Amino acid sequence: MALGMIILGRQGSGKGTQAARIAHRYGVVHISTGDMLRSAVAEGTEMGLEAKVLMDAGDLVPDDVINGIVDERLAKADVVDGGFLLDGYPRTPGQADALVGFVGERLQLALNLDVSVDVVTERMMARGREDDSPESIARRLQLYEAETAPLLSWAEDRGILTVIDGLGGENDVFARLSVVIDAI
Ligand code: ADP
Repeated sequence: MALGMIILGRQGSGKGTQAARIAHRYGVVHISTGDMLRSAVAEGTEMGLEAKVLMDAGDLVPDDVINGIVDERLAKADVVDGGFLLDGYPRTPGQADALVGFVGERLQLALNLDVSVDVVTERMMARGREDDSPESIARRLQLYEAETAPLLSWAEDRGILTVIDGLGGENDVFARLSVVIDAI
């Protein structure tokens, strides 16, 4: 069975960077909902225009919109054959439920990249992406605690959770992640 994984962790924890490296090494498809939404914004689609307002404020795009995008992507042949690593999804209990409906037992591993609020705030202030204003950062971290942190117990209850220390150099963190993935 192709490998199915999700990567959890606060904004600025390094998820995107590590997810790209994991996809490269293990041959799974990296699916970043943030990147998909930014492409939709760049293309100026109707969905992109609606999403941009929410993204700039640090708010979440509604579950039904994001679930639709992910469902469509997961059904494509490259994902079915090669497996997947979802980055930035699921982010709410409603998305987690939807994901189980889409992939069921194909979801084998939830990696939680653990980095404190203080450290991720500093990192985001330094990287200066368009939606990295102090207000938007604060809002996203607040939503993370309220909506996404509960998914850690969800993943633990499914028996798929592994917590990885996200502090330190990129290569060190990648080595820690690789040990966990190699084990399954
Ligand atoms: P970050 O993790 O720093 O918020 P992302 O690139 O993952 O960066 O997401 C950027 C924005 O896109 C989010 O603030 C949110 O508005 C939207 N977004 C991305 N993924 C989701 C999702 N799964 N559910 C709802 N909104 C999302």
